[in-house]
Amino acid sequence: MTQNLRIGLGVDTHRLEAGRPCRLGGVQVPSDVGPVGHSDGDAILHAACDACLGAAGLDDLGSLFPDTDAANKNRDSKEFCRQTLALLVEQGCEVLSLDIVVEAEQPKLAPHRAAIRESVAALFQISGDRVNVKGKSAEKLGAIGRGEALRVTAVALVSTGAAAR
Ligand code: MG
Repeated sequence: MTQNLRIGLGVDTHRLEAGRPCRLGGVQVPSDVGPVGHSDGDAILHAACDACLGAAGLDDLGSLFPDTDAANKNRDSKEFCRQTLALLVEQGCEVLSLDIVVEAEQPKLAPHRAAIRESVAALFQISGDRVNVKGKSAEKLGAIGRGEALRVTAVALVSTGAAAR
């Protein structure tokens, strides 16, 4: 069987600050620090959206929802997912899977991985076994290693639905 498949990559880095709420993959994670951002700073959802948009050949998240637009201030990133998915559907695209790596010293991801997987899967309307979320330490190196930032990398596999070439 030949399918028209596309891979997309999304990367998002956010600075971490004490006292900020920490939302990752649409899940509120208990943490002393949280990401600083114009929206809610949900780096997992930002990277996942960018991966899907990239695979579909669409404009990136920052262009679609610029941080210079007051409407995006403190915005719930779940809305970015819904709009990203709507754009993909318009193009006849379907998200098949997402693989996500979170590099952070804090918060520790392990206790929340299952909830984050289910949350991301629900947002992109796929089953939980098609989403993976892995936490990695930066071995104390650089800004991430010092706990000053976190970085998320996401890869999306998307079916374009168009005739295979
Ligand atoms: Mg971001």
